Amino acid sequence: MTETQALTKTLVFALDVQSDNESLLHDARLECRRVFNEVLRLTYDGWDWNRIEDVVEQNADLVQNTAQRIIDKAFDALTNYYDNDDWGRPWYKHEMFPLRMNYGEGYNLFLEDCGTVRFRISAKPYKHVKGELPSTRDQFDLLTQAIEDDDWHVGTAEALVRNGREELHVTVTNKSAEVGAKTAAENVVGVDINEDCVALAALTESGIEDSIVIDYPEIKEQRHRYFTMRKRMQEAGQTAFNDVFRDKEQRFVHDQLHTVSRRVIEWIQRFDSPVIVFEDLKDMRDGIEYGTRMNRRLHSLPFAKLRDFITYKAAWNGIPSDDIDPEYTSQQCPVCGHTERANRHKKRFKCCECEHQDHADRGAAISVAQKWLRKQEDRNVPALNILPQVQKWELRRQASGPVNGPTVTHHTARGNQTDGVSGVSDQSTGRSSGA
Ligand SMILES: [Zn+2]
Repeated sequence: MTETQALTKTLVFALDVQSDNESLLHDARLECRRVFNEVLRLTYDGWDWNRIEDVVEQNADLVQNTAQRIIDKAFDALTNYYDNDDWGRPWYKHEMFPLRMNYGEGYNLFLEDCGTVRFRISAKPYKHVKGELPSTRDQFDLLTQAIEDDDWHVGTAEALVRNGREELHVTVTNKSAEVGAKTAAENVVGVDINEDCVALAALTESGIEDSIVIDYPEIKEQRHRYFTMRKRMQEAGQTAFNDVFRDKEQRFVHDQLHTVSRRVIEWIQRFDSPVIVFEDLKDMRDGIEYGTRMNRRLHSLPFAKLRDFITYKAAWNGIPSDDIDPEYTSQQCPVCGHTERANRHKKRFKCCECEHQDHADRGAAISVAQKWLRKQEDRNVPALNILPQVQKWELRRQASGPVNGPTVTHHTARGNQTDGVSGVSDQSTGRSSGA
């Protein structure tokens, strides 16, 4: 039994412009930015959204549905802010803005027999930029499938400049991708996402297979740095610089979380027919008091975003995801089942009943997997006596490296004991003290 689910992937192409009017792309991006900023400005002036939509669309020097895409993007940013004030109110864009277009309207792609793809972008009404999309065999095949196969769909594209190069980012969606059935899963991978790390534990009905803690201390550090700067600048009344800084922070966090999610998927793919299990936090917005740890996690960006990245990359690889009720997972002893708040102290877990000790987040990941097994009919929840040593990865940015080039170093639990970051040591919070 399998489930179907739409999956979207972004294909990145360089643009080989052959119509000798490349600057039109630049002009169109300036106009997109103006449209975006205009939507924000009118919203903050108190206009209602229907009126904004009409007026801005009419005055935009863009193909109509391209203007619509940009207006939607501004509304999305505003909605996101009203729902979850994580980065503060969206502010006017000062940096270059991507030209976002609908397939078949704002841009079009044409496959040629010799394995090349030609593009036509309607940068301005009645003004086209044309040329070739140099592509690899894989990209060409995927694009052919997306254009010709009924199960696939070519979506919006963005024309933007990256590293000095004109690029086209095309989204393609597989409308009926097959994801393995949750109920048939052999390996249950519990996930515990925190501000500075994600813990994973793979359980079968007969025991624990393996576990890992992936640390990303820099995401937490950078975010704290950002919040401090933001506060200082707000006090000084500087909002413009604040916005540039925010864009940089968001990109950094975004890139790091992508790398983390790739590591997570690589690790999970070693197991036969896995299911990924998260704590379900969606009901918690409705005012249920789950204590400060949960509230902090709920309002921290990494949780939702990392979960999205993992879920979508997993689905792309045919791996299903599920969730369980989060209540008490971090306080429950994975060995004897005893649940008490005092079991947990920051990163250290020590059961008040059986004295079992563990890295608290790894323990929580095990509890999540156990809870999922308990929820299924006719599934055995394994008794755990001896747990494997805590394996650790740490994601770091190279001192001189680019923002999107983090590296991963591998530590064993033993190696970590020497520098005081052992999973069961009180000093395990050393890196993240001040939490
Ligand atoms: Zn216990």
